[in-house]
Amino acid sequence: MKIIILISVVVLIFLYLPVPWIYSKILVMSLRRKLAQKPSLVLTFDDGPGDTLTLSILDILKKHNAKATFFLLGKNIEGREEVVKQIAEQGHEIGTHGFDHLNYWRVNPLKSISDINKGIQEINKALDKKNKTYPFRPPFGKLNFISLLNLCLRKFPIIYWTCDIGDTHKNIQTNNKIEISSSVVLAHDYERKNQNTARMVLGTIDKLLREAKQKDLPVLTVSQFIRGSGS
Ligand SMILES: [Zn+2]
Repeated sequence: MKIIILISVVVLIFLYLPVPWIYSKILVMSLRRKLAQKPSLVLTFDDGPGDTLTLSILDILKKHNAKATFFLLGKNIEGREEVVKQIAEQGHEIGTHGFDHLNYWRVNPLKSISDINKGIQEINKALDKKNKTYPFRPPFGKLNFISLLNLCLRKFPIIYWTCDIGDTHKNIQTNNKIEISSSVVLAHDYERKNQNTARMVLGTIDKLLREAKQKDLPVLTVSQFIRGSGS
């Protein structure tokens, strides 16, 4: 009996963090392979909606006639339902980033699943919808085995990124140094206290969209890119 418990514990330890970690690396590799096959610019924004920053990003996207994917954080939606509606009405894709930006390696598995569900509920409430699935961006890029299994069984596309513009890093580089050709780009649209950071995000997005136009690179939402459609 003891040996069975011991084996079960060892198997669980092996599955719980290493499997999702290996799976995340495979997903990133497959994004890179796809980007090499079909060069594209895929802009994704996490942790929003913010107030002014999200609206300014929408203005830039509109100016370039480009669509992006917003991985909304459930706890930031209340009071910003109009911003969520504007994102959807302007034809951008809405994804979920959970509710409370929890590190799923550090919370119990049931809590991670309820966080995913709460994030979806907030989006549905804001948009007056009953969708059960949205593309999912794991907070901190981390999943535990139970949350991974839950997402896979419910057919949630799990979306990582290949290029981080660095707008949440301690030492923020100026956007002039960011060289991106074909990428799934990670940026953040939550409201910033530091206006320099907000300006860096806007400047970088504008620069990437101008470069994409010069290089004739299609700008796609996550789902357009994954399905291989859009232009
Ligand atoms: Zn995040």
